Amino acid sequence: MIIFSVLVTPTFIIDFRQVAIIVSAYYGGWMPAIITGIIISGFRLVYMGINHMAVVGSVAGQVIAIGCALISLLCIEQRKKWVLMTGYCIIISSIVFSILITDLAQLKQIIIIYSIGLVILSCLAYYHTNYLIISNRLMRRLKAESSKDFLTGLDNVRSFNDIYNDLMQTAVKRNEQLSVLTIDIDHFKMINDTYGHQTCDEVLKELANLLIKTCRQFDIISRKGGEEFSVLLVDCPPEKANNIGERIRQAVEEHKFILQERKLINITVSIGIATFPDMTQDKQQLLELSDKALYKAKNTGRNKVCIIE
Ligand code: GH3
Ligand code: MG
Ligand code: MG
Repeated sequence: MIIFSVLVTPTFIIDFRQVAIIVSAYYGGWMPAIITGIIISGFRLVYMGINHMAVVGSVAGQVIAIGCALISLLCIEQRKKWVLMTGYCIIISSIVFSILITDLAQLKQIIIIYSIGLVILSCLAYYHTNYLIISNRLMRRLKAESSKDFLTGLDNVRSFNDIYNDLMQTAVKRNEQLSVLTIDIDHFKMINDTYGHQTCDEVLKELANLLIKTCRQFDIISRKGGEEFSVLLVDCPPEKANNIGERIRQAVEEHKFILQERKLINITVSIGIATFPDMTQDKQQLLELSDKALYKAKNTGRNKVCIIE
């Protein structure tokens, strides 16, 4: 903003560096405003050399930075702060112009040009920075939503795949075991048909919380879709995975799930387990074996934990 200044008369240039101070004060608070003022004033002296105009300009920059910093501390609506800062910049800059310019007609002309320019730039900066902040916020939200299951807040199938690939690589590198638990609610269709889809969504949420409570802190719990969940057990041999699976199965069986109107129901889950590298060294096949173990649990009575030997 200092480099691309505007030549108003053959001997007089103006720049709109104050906008940077306003942006800093508005979004960062008093400290960034002061720092921006110091940077701008310092740069102006270095870039333009020490002369009367540069010194007055630098002092004015500091006065504007301090003023904007104080305005940023006021307890008023954010938009009003911006208007106040812009007005304050115009007043201080007009005082500076009147110190530097003796020709009254020229002074009037410069103050008008400067005021119009600053108001336009200030508005552009306000809408542009607001737009950037909203876009940034949206981007972060979309990023979070694309990796989380919207209903339970667990990792979704996309993050499951990413994490699974990473954990597999780590397990190979460290020569560790990795167990996969595939968990499916028994007869959930019937429960849905009895109590309704919306009520049963609450069951899914509650089950997700129960899984979090029952598993170890570093286990990776995901909702793979529908009423199917999975848990990745890092550095976990089949026997230990079986114990954890049994712990989950029992916890679900004993838990009273609260439905609307304070009705309580019990559900059960079937769990299939497969372990790397004990059962296979192929990562795709490991998931298939875990599914196969789940089908075995379903086909042999449900509410049980199975491992394909
Ligand atoms: P099984 O014991 O063999 O697993 O029987 P099941 O009824 O649980 O299995 P099935 O695959 O036949 O039905 C799954 C049901 O899960 C179908 C659907 O009504 C329900 N379901 C899937 N996704 C959701 C969801 O997001 N919310 C709710 N409330 N129900 C879901
Ligand atoms: Mg099911
Ligand atoms: Mg299912």
